[in-house]
Amino acid sequence: MDKNQARGESTTGISEWKQRAPYRVHGPNERFDTKYEANCHCGRVKFQLSRREPLDSKLCHCSTCQTQHAAPFQWAAIFHKEDINFTNGHHDLEWYDPTEKSIEHKLPCKVRCSFCHSPIMDEGRNMILLFPSLIHLKTDEDRAYFKPRCHMFYGQRVMDIPDGLPKWSGLSQESELIEDSPPELVREVERRREGERSKRFEKGENE
Ligand SMILES: [Zn+2]
Ligand SMILES: [Zn+2]
Repeated sequence: MDKNQARGESTTGISEWKQRAPYRVHGPNERFDTKYEANCHCGRVKFQLSRREPLDSKLCHCSTCQTQHAAPFQWAAIFHKEDINFTNGHHDLEWYDPTEKSIEHKLPCKVRCSFCHSPIMDEGRNMILLFPSLIHLKTDEDRAYFKPRCHMFYGQRVMDIPDGLPKWSGLSQESELIEDSPPELVREVERRREGERSKRFEKGENE
């Protein structure tokens, strides 16, 4: 695999990923309903978003995010791959696969500007996790849509954030709610898991 597969102006051959979401550039006659504009620090990479409210907004305290972002935690807003349109610089992207520690375009991977190295998003298999710091949020309403809704991998945190939001020890929904998570949510998760346990028990899948 060409290590510089992300570079160059070509959109064919090994660069044909540029023709697929989330990297596909929409043509002038295609309707793309722009709600936000965004760019990396140097401005070489520019993109638009067509969805006003992200599917989710989370703070991740895992040690990979801490290292990759050189920050105590990462803020990510989740979008569909079709919600983004690169208007500039999709030829200037670079990837990093934290699992394989390789720079090949294998999902899930980190996507950065290859010039200023600003992190742009994590590209997952089905979704993208965008870093809202790059998005021009102009109104209080827009900022409210992006407000973080939970913390994940809070068990790996380097600092406490006592904001009353749900705090998952690991992956959201799949781990334990810890610290100052809302008690009603803790009870709701316990009830749901108890329901799932008794359903398994009835089916004879007793563990
Ligand atoms: Zn840049
Ligand atoms: Zn993380």
